[in-house]
Amino acid sequence: MHSPDSRRRLRPELLKGVGMTSQRTRDRMVERLARQGIADRRVLETMAEEPRHLFLDEALSHRAYEDTSLPIGHGQTLSQPWIVARMTELVREEAPTRVLEVGTGSGYQTLILARLVTELWSVERINALHRRAGEQLRLLSVHNAHLRLADGGHGWPEAAPFEVILLTACAGSLPEPLLAQLADGGVMIAPLAERDGRQWLVRVRRQGERFEKERLEPVRFVPLLEGVIR
Ligand code: SAH
Repeated sequence: MHSPDSRRRLRPELLKGVGMTSQRTRDRMVERLARQGIADRRVLETMAEEPRHLFLDEALSHRAYEDTSLPIGHGQTLSQPWIVARMTELVREEAPTRVLEVGTGSGYQTLILARLVTELWSVERINALHRRAGEQLRLLSVHNAHLRLADGGHGWPEAAPFEVILLTACAGSLPEPLLAQLADGGVMIAPLAERDGRQWLVRVRRQGERFEKERLEPVRFVPLLEGVIR
């Protein structure tokens, strides 16, 4: 949560580039998300407040509130608002205190999560994205998100276990180290590619040493890749 003070500090940024980056544009995005079935009021309120356009290059910022994914460089994309909202809603259903995100990317999903959970760890494998996201989150006074440049397939062992692990890149199978870092009763929310190449958002719940997988909806994400790009 941020104080009224931090909100005031944000103002000049929010007003930069009138029109497509205005409060009205954000409100319209949120109304559309509600029509598309996003029911969690806190998610909608948070997305109505937070400046998605600041996570894009200036040339693209006028498109920030469209219902689409957008390029952030290095072949990666900022997920469409609907998927950010849906995944955040799924995270919040668990009422978690400790969350791991794999794939910081622009940092926008990180920001929305950080406003709604107690403490967040987020891993990115491309240094340029990791650094830019960190700068942006600092500007927005996010203090409860820990960022690391690393291959997220290995998780963040020192901070485990997590009640929720969220993947924002698509795996062909769920990485074992991540499953091992789930708390008992915790969930992994991840896009998973099936044999036919189609991707599904899945929720995998850990029950002791058992993992129960549930298919939620068809999605399209960039792939989860190995290694770090410095
Ligand atoms: N939530 C981000 C989505 C970015 S796209 C946003 O809304 O901006 C997915 C991101 O996952 C990319 O930045 C990509 O570099 C990153 N990624 C892919 N494989 C990864 C891995 N093994 N470890 C960490 N990050 C990874």
